[in-house]
Amino acid sequence: MSKLYSISATVSAVCVVMILIFVPPLVEKARNKVAPHKPFVISEKAQKLHQNLLVGDLHADSLLWNRNLAERADYGHLDLPRLREGNVAIQAFTAVTKSPKGQNYHSNPDDVSDNITLLALVQAWPPNTWDSLLQRALYQAERLQQLAQKNPQQLKVIATRQDLEQVLASRAEGSQQIAGFLGTEGSHALEGKLENIQRLYDAGYRMMGLQHFFDNELGGSLHGESNAGLTRFGQQALQEMERLNIIVDLAHSSESVVRDVLAQAKRPVVISHTGIKGTCNSPRNISDQLMQQIAAKGGLIGIGFWDAVCDVSPEGIVRTLRYAIDLVGVEHVALGSDFDGSVTTALDASELAVLTQTMLQQGFTETEIRRVMGENLRDFLLQYLPQS
Ligand SMILES: [Zn+2]
Repeated sequence: MSKLYSISATVSAVCVVMILIFVPPLVEKARNKVAPHKPFVISEKAQKLHQNLLVGDLHADSLLWNRNLAERADYGHLDLPRLREGNVAIQAFTAVTKSPKGQNYHSNPDDVSDNITLLALVQAWPPNTWDSLLQRALYQAERLQQLAQKNPQQLKVIATRQDLEQVLASRAEGSQQIAGFLGTEGSHALEGKLENIQRLYDAGYRMMGLQHFFDNELGGSLHGESNAGLTRFGQQALQEMERLNIIVDLAHSSESVVRDVLAQAKRPVVISHTGIKGTCNSPRNISDQLMQQIAAKGGLIGIGFWDAVCDVSPEGIVRTLRYAIDLVGVEHVALGSDFDGSVTTALDASELAVLTQTMLQQGFTETEIRRVMGENLRDFLLQYLPQS
C-alpha cells in the first residue's frame, strides 16, 4: 500500500513539475503574439535617427508572465535585450491583477471568476497571491525590483525625478541603462482600502490605473456594466494618489470617470494605452473630445500597437499617431504599446525603429518624431514623479 502510495505521489509530483515547466510558456505564446512578418528593412537614415532618439513607452504587462526578462526570448514582446535593441530608455511596467473570464470590450460583470488566479497557480506564484489582488501587485513589483538588482547596469526602477535624471545621465555617457517604472492596470488591487495606495507606493508604484475591464470600488470601467463615475472611495483615492505624486492613468475608465477625474484632479493625467475613436471606432476607446480635454489639462496619451488602433501595422500605428497629434497637439502624444498585454502586435520591442522609419516616410518632422517616441514621456515624468 505504501509503495503504491509513493508511486502515485511521485507521478503526481512529476505531473505538477511538468505543468509548471511547460504550461506557462504555452499560455504566453498563445496570448502575446507578434504577427509573422519578414524582417523590417530599416534605412540607414531612419536607423541613425532612431539611435539618436530618447524612446519611451507608457505601458507593458510583461511582469504578468514568468519569463526571465533579463534574457532574450523568442516569444512575447519585451525583455531587456529587446528593449536595448529597440533603443528604449524608459519603460512602464504595468501590473495586471485581475482579468474576468470572457473578457471583452463591451460589458464585463465584476463578480465572475478571474483568469489571473489560474495563471498565478500554474506559474507557481507565492500562495498569498492566489486570492489577493494586492499581493499580486506587490509580487510583480518585487519581480521588477529583483530584475534591476540583478542587472543594475541594464535596468533601474525609477521612483523619483532624480532617479530618472541619473539614468538619462548614464545614457548620455554611452550606457544602455533603462529606466523602468511601475504602474497598475486598475486599482482593484487596493482591495477597497485607501491605505493600500501608500503600500503600493512604498513598493515602487508611481502610476495607477483606476479601472481595468470591470467596475470596481473606485467607479465604472469603460468595459463594465454600470458606466458609473467616480465613487466617494474613488474621489478619496484620487486625492491620496495626488498627495503622493502618483500619476493617474485613465486607460479603461468609463467616460463618466474620465469626466469626474478631469473636474477634480489637480495634476495632469495620462491614458497609458489607447487607440483614438476618430481613426478606430472601437468600444475600447473614449471620445476624441475627452482626449482633447485630457490634453488641455496637460495630460499625455499613449497610442497602442494592438487592435485598439484597428490597423496594427506600423503604417496604421503611425496614422493613429498623426491623427492624435492633429487632435490634441504633439506635446500630448506618446507610445503606449501594451506589449505583453495579451495582444497581437505587428512588432516587438526590438523593432521600434520601424515606427521611426514609417513616421519619416509619412512626412513627420524630426521634432514630432522625437516628442512622440519618448521626449514627451521623459518630460512628463521629470515634472510629475515625486522629488527625492
Ligand atoms: Zn490594458
